[in-house]
Amino acid sequence: ASRRWGGGPGDAASHAAGVADPAKIRTRFPPEPNGYLHVGHAKSICLNFGLARDYDGVCHMRFDDTNPEKEDQEYVDSILDAIQWLGFGWDKFGQSHLYHASDYFGFMFRAAEYLIEAGHAYVDQQTAEEMRVNRGDFTTPGKDSPFRNRPAAESLALFHEMRDGKHPDGSMVVRAKIDMASPNINMRDPAIYRIRHAEHHRTGNQWCVYPMYTFAHPIEDALEQITHSICTLEFEDQRPFYDWLLARLAEGGLLADPLPHQYEFARLNLTYVITSKRKLMQLVNEKYVEGWDDPRMPTIVGLRRRGFTPEAIQLFCERIGVTKSDTWIDYSVLEGALRDDLEEKAARAMVVLDPLKLKLTNWDTLFGANHAEPCSAPVHPHHEEMGKREFNLTREVWIEREDFQEVPEKGFRRLFPDNMARLKYGYVIKCTGCEKDAEGNVTAVLAEIVPDTKSGTPGADSVKVKGVITWVSASEGLSAEVRLYDRLFTEAQPDAGGRNFLEVLNPDSKRVVTAYVEPGLAQTTAGTSFQFERHGYFVADRKECGADRLVFNRTVTLKDSWGK
Ligand code: ATP
Ligand code: MG
Ligand code: MG
Repeated sequence: ASRRWGGGPGDAASHAAGVADPAKIRTRFPPEPNGYLHVGHAKSICLNFGLARDYDGVCHMRFDDTNPEKEDQEYVDSILDAIQWLGFGWDKFGQSHLYHASDYFGFMFRAAEYLIEAGHAYVDQQTAEEMRVNRGDFTTPGKDSPFRNRPAAESLALFHEMRDGKHPDGSMVVRAKIDMASPNINMRDPAIYRIRHAEHHRTGNQWCVYPMYTFAHPIEDALEQITHSICTLEFEDQRPFYDWLLARLAEGGLLADPLPHQYEFARLNLTYVITSKRKLMQLVNEKYVEGWDDPRMPTIVGLRRRGFTPEAIQLFCERIGVTKSDTWIDYSVLEGALRDDLEEKAARAMVVLDPLKLKLTNWDTLFGANHAEPCSAPVHPHHEEMGKREFNLTREVWIEREDFQEVPEKGFRRLFPDNMARLKYGYVIKCTGCEKDAEGNVTAVLAEIVPDTKSGTPGADSVKVKGVITWVSASEGLSAEVRLYDRLFTEAQPDAGGRNFLEVLNPDSKRVVTAYVEPGLAQTTAGTSFQFERHGYFVADRKECGADRLVFNRTVTLKDSWGK
């Protein structure tokens, strides 16, 4: 036996993960560390880790790292981080359940040797093109390779030469010997081992032969004694090979009952979102977005930076459920779960996104120029225990530009000459006009305080108004960079029908404004979520918001309920 040969039949037991723990069911989440996790993976994570949580089981965190060229430690780290952030872990029953498929390379090599010895596999030296042609298609049965019936000893010797680096990439492969006429093309002698002279991020240059995914995966599941190997529907046609392989290895004594079973569920298709790793990588590499954690990306790091919470993502996964039908989920379902979670948690704040100055022209006579009138508002309207916010009303404030119309359109209830509206948490004011620049643009709105109408005082309701205006003190408010994010694509199915998804990128997916925020937001910690009253939910950017600079990302707008 070779030095590289990690084990014989007894190896199954030593690799087996859960022998000692009392798990009632055992699932696994097996990403390939070749990219960042996205919202589609979140569905699989919630399903696999969620089942383990709900049924006294354990979910194995397994890196399916059998493809050396594309994998990287950067991805490994980000995947582990994403799973923990989502609220799941792999330590249970007093042990870690973190596994790597590459730890089983020795066993997998031995399993392929066994299949060759037992006449269930052979080394094929056809070219890739010959193999493709001879595989046939849905209407034509395949043709046997001229190497199919070569003696087992010859295949075995070649397989050893493959391992020993004697042959170049692509010159030969090991194939399972099943049935070239099977109606299931996956059963037409699938390749199980190939040559790749490539460095692996964990095993270095120890191997130059690597197992194919479809061969490796059932073995990983069996060695870890997985009970429910849950995968997406595309793998349904792979199930016969999954079962065939495990049955052969069990016959040979390499594996023992009970063997795992594969179950399939529909992958997540979410409108306005792309989940192909390759296409996401293209968005990053070609700089259509600012990295994997750009708040417009459907990656877990992107969602997190956008202000999604783990609870919202879990709630979304519960709501969409697990089905066998490949439908599209509307993006609004994700947004709905997010609003439902943030509604209860997020502190409120007043922020003006499109500032226009409002001058209170009777301030000086009423209060004196330097007076600041204390106002207060609940941190959360339904949670008194969250306390109060305090801020001052001053003689000049910022209001939203859209809150003033010199000539009001029908139904407009906010500020226009001679109309009254309430400065939220403050006084009723009466608009008296506006100031304009040489081009006729409105540069300031003029209004007078209506005395004795302050919110929270006995006179507050003495004057009835229909419009309520949000505002921030011009002298005490803080300026902040606010990024108004929107959907990344303008079409619900960006890559449908072979369309190039880059053609339907939303040019307005990011708009940056300088806003004014309540002074209480000065000490905001990065990552904190707020509801900016009337505007939606925003989060202090995890990377760029700090003591010297306030930066907020729009997570999601409020339901469109803001009246005129
Ligand atoms: P690749 O395109 O590189 O094969 P993948 O999208 O299949 O990548 P993996 O890293 O192999 O990603 O995925 C890990 C697990 O996540 C798999 O078990 C897969 O079933 C699941 N998964 C991936 N995409 C989705 C999706 N859109 N919906 C549900 N589950 C998904
Ligand atoms: Mg995959
Ligand atoms: Mg995929």
